[in-house]
Amino acid sequence: MTVLRKNLIDGEWLGEAGSRNINPSNTNDVVGEYASAGPEEAKQAIAAAKAAFPAWSRSGPLARHAVLKKTSDEIMARKDEIGRSLAREEGKTLAEGVGETIRAAQLFDFFAGETLRLSGELVPSVRPGVGVEMTREGVGVVGIITPWNFPIAIPAWKIAPALAYGNTIVFKPAELVPESAWTIVDILHRAGLPKGVLNLVMGKGSVVGQAMLDSPDVNAISFTGSVGTGKRVAAASVEHMRKFQLEMGGKNPLVVLDDADLAVAVDCAINGAYFSTGQRCTASSRLIVTEGIHDRFVDAVKERLDKLVIGDALDAKTQIGPVVDQTQLKQDEDYIAIGRQEGAELAFGGDRLEREAPGFYLRPALFLGSTNAMRISREEIFGPVANVIRVKDYDEALAVANDTPFGLTSGICTTSLKHATHFKRNSEAGMVMVNLPTAGVDFHVPFGGRKGSSYGPREQGRYAMEFYTTVKTAYTFAG
Ligand code: NAD
Repeated sequence: MTVLRKNLIDGEWLGEAGSRNINPSNTNDVVGEYASAGPEEAKQAIAAAKAAFPAWSRSGPLARHAVLKKTSDEIMARKDEIGRSLAREEGKTLAEGVGETIRAAQLFDFFAGETLRLSGELVPSVRPGVGVEMTREGVGVVGIITPWNFPIAIPAWKIAPALAYGNTIVFKPAELVPESAWTIVDILHRAGLPKGVLNLVMGKGSVVGQAMLDSPDVNAISFTGSVGTGKRVAAASVEHMRKFQLEMGGKNPLVVLDDADLAVAVDCAINGAYFSTGQRCTASSRLIVTEGIHDRFVDAVKERLDKLVIGDALDAKTQIGPVVDQTQLKQDEDYIAIGRQEGAELAFGGDRLEREAPGFYLRPALFLGSTNAMRISREEIFGPVANVIRVKDYDEALAVANDTPFGLTSGICTTSLKHATHFKRNSEAGMVMVNLPTAGVDFHVPFGGRKGSSYGPREQGRYAMEFYTTVKTAYTFAG
């Protein structure tokens, strides 16, 4: 028997069954049934959030701290169950699902602490006898629109700061991962949020998401997803003169220099390019390798790829789960065909795999002999597909790494302090890794990119305050 999950609007669970969620490791397995909101429900949710804002924004730090801390504690206590459910609906491995759930708990814990550290500034005015206070206030109703690839961590890193700084929320999760979204909202609701402070509207992006973009009562939108949808969010937000923040795609380079520790470089490539089935905005999709280490590196990567266990996400032995759905699988296969047509050599994988149950299994693919001008080097594939670009030296590697419309993360594997330091300084990415995979970040420091990858203030850590608050300057003449 499948469960029916409803939307949360103004403190009430509402809606009828509208969509089913399928397990990508076993398409016979229905995870659950979910209400699908229409434009009217979206409007009700926005109105509820608007009505709840004055009281919530004036609630003291303790009330917000209590809800966020309680939420963190419950997520942590249920990490195995929630992590398993996440792996079942998204297809990442059990270890990755549990790890992501722990990350969500840490994010709520961090922002619970931030509620007690809110501060302002008091400075003397240039006019005698006048004092000037600078304080931060919540922005108002925040629309939160999230993708499917981090079903619990991305909602957590938006919802936690939005609540901590006194905003109210309309949350629209990705269609493919409603269970994780529902779970986090259910926990927050039971943790004691007043009605209307957090509203969940599951449904189609083109319907519910669009209703949020079109509403003059949504004061800010935090969006993570594709570049195409991000541009729509931007255009609609300018129309309404609202604040917006976009985290979008990547085409992240991992540079491997001749002097790299080979084992470290191979670990970085395998983890960065293929873990989470390559479905990470921070994935290392371009492996830029200098001539002296190229052949050894490629042989070692192929050897490791051959040993990876690809299978059901819920099997503890699995290292790479399935692709998330049929549409993404087709996109991956289309790009593999494009790479071959462009003249790159498919040196490993790229074929579909059969497993006990029907699922979207794809053997991780590695292209050799690619150039940075090929489409497989320029466009985000968002699957377990990476291509090696052979370069002469560090200078060429840096130039190729930066020659991309994106700028989310970048990485370099080297034992040279000089090259590592130069790369950190000159890489055109928001996050730079030395001897680490391009994917995998801390939760208490800023996250975000440059160029076509991001727009607006950073997410996470104390930097999240920039987006979720607005500054007020107050002048007082005491007489
Ligand atoms: P997507 O753009 O298709 O969808 C993202 C969200 O936008 C979903 O909730 C969707 O329903 C909603 N949406 C779709 N149309 C809309 C509309 N007209 N109005 C409002 N909302 C709408 O992206 P996706 O396929 O879910 O996610 C994959 C993408 O996300 C990749 O490009 C990936 O790189 C990116 N991503 C980026 C980061 C980052 O931090 N930079 C993190 C994770 C994923």
